[in-house]
Amino acid sequence: MARYDFATHRLHVPADLAPEAVVPLEPGALNYLLNVLRMDEGARLLVFNGRDGEWEATVRKPTRKTAVLALQRQTRLQEPAGRIRYAFAPLKSARLDYLVQKAVEMGAARLTPVLTQRTQLHRLKDERLQANIIEAAEQCGILALPVLEPEIRLDRFLATLPPDEILVFCDEDAEIANPVVALRQKQPMAGITVLVGPEGGFTEDERARALAHPGLLRLSLGPRILRADTAAVAVLTLVQSVYGDWTGASVKEM
Ligand code: SAH
Repeated sequence: MARYDFATHRLHVPADLAPEAVVPLEPGALNYLLNVLRMDEGARLLVFNGRDGEWEATVRKPTRKTAVLALQRQTRLQEPAGRIRYAFAPLKSARLDYLVQKAVEMGAARLTPVLTQRTQLHRLKDERLQANIIEAAEQCGILALPVLEPEIRLDRFLATLPPDEILVFCDEDAEIANPVVALRQKQPMAGITVLVGPEGGFTEDERARALAHPGLLRLSLGPRILRADTAAVAVLTLVQSVYGDWTGASVKEM
């Protein structure tokens, strides 16, 4: 049974959320509510800011073209961020939008663009990535907004990844073996980092560096070469099913 209200529109707002607060609407949100969703005075929605949980709100329209949100009751307590970091080689725009949205829906708590030798895109538009994160968060019901980390070269990323982190290295050259059995061989006590390469794959030098990480878990995603955005959903499905919030066990039981 769904634990929370999926039917009501959810909107991310930057403002602090507290009882009786009146939240102003930025032009983008104002246009979305009034012109796209055609909400009128008294319409009900849910708002969150990534810090103060989720609140029920009502649209108030002091004039025809303006609106504010009057907060009523808190509907959900703020939830802690997860512990999965999704490290990915940036793809070209539309696929990157898709990849970021899927990683958010699949529960990635941190998104780290890693620049590999065959990465196609080297100039990331952070505000576009951030907009994708918020859009996916509004849609999928999360309260802790995933953190977009600064882009980093792969060798530096691997050199600074804590040794107690599990590094789930999706390697298209790995021997085909059951990924669930492979994941079950490790019991993550700290963070879990998933690494997926670019469309051009990893170079031998990059593969060697990843394989040398103390928390390495080399993973095959089967006999077919998946596009990087497909690999994102596949590996996060496996990680959530074996270690994460798809197990049904609360974190304290892990
Ligand atoms: N162009 C490369 C494949 C790159 S696919 C080639 O033809 O060999 C993009 C990324 O998705 C890979 O770097 C890897 O991280 C992941 N990936 C794709 N298919 C995979 C598989 N079968 N097993 C493990 N990882 C895979």
